[in-house]
Amino acid sequence: MAEANRSEPKRCVATRKDGARCAAPVMGGGDRCYAHDPAQAAARDQARRKGGTNSATAARAEKLLPTVLRPVLVALLQTLQGARTGAIDARRATAVASVARAIVAVYTAGTLEERVQQLEAATRPQEGQRQA
Ligand SMILES: [Zn+2]
Repeated sequence: MAEANRSEPKRCVATRKDGARCAAPVMGGGDRCYAHDPAQAAARDQARRKGGTNSATAARAEKLLPTVLRPVLVALLQTLQGARTGAIDARRATAVASVARAIVAVYTAGTLEERVQQLEAATRPQEGQRQA
C-alpha cells in the first residue's frame, strides 16, 4: 500500500463563523472545502435556490417539464384525445408526435450544450489558480 493512503485527508484552511478552524476535507487540489471554496460560491447559491423551490410537488413536476416544452405536451395530449375520439386521423397524429419528438431532441441538445458550457466556465478559474 502507498504511504498516501495512511496519511490524513487534507483539511480546509478557512475559519468558521464561530472562529474555529474548519475541519472539512478539501476538494480536489485546493486548500478549502466545498463550503469555503470561493470558486464554488455560484454552485452553492444555485444548489440553495434549487433546494428551496424543489420542496413543493408542483416545483418537482415543473422541473420535469421545462416551460418551453409545455405547449408540446398540451399539443400531444390534444392530439391523443383527438385520435382517440376520431377527430384527428392516425396519420396526422403520427405527424404531430414526430414533430414533437424533433422539438424535444433540439431542446435537449441545446440544454446539454448550455450545461457543458456552464460546467467548463465553472472549472476554468480553478485550473487557472493552480497554474499561476
Ligand atoms: Zn471549510
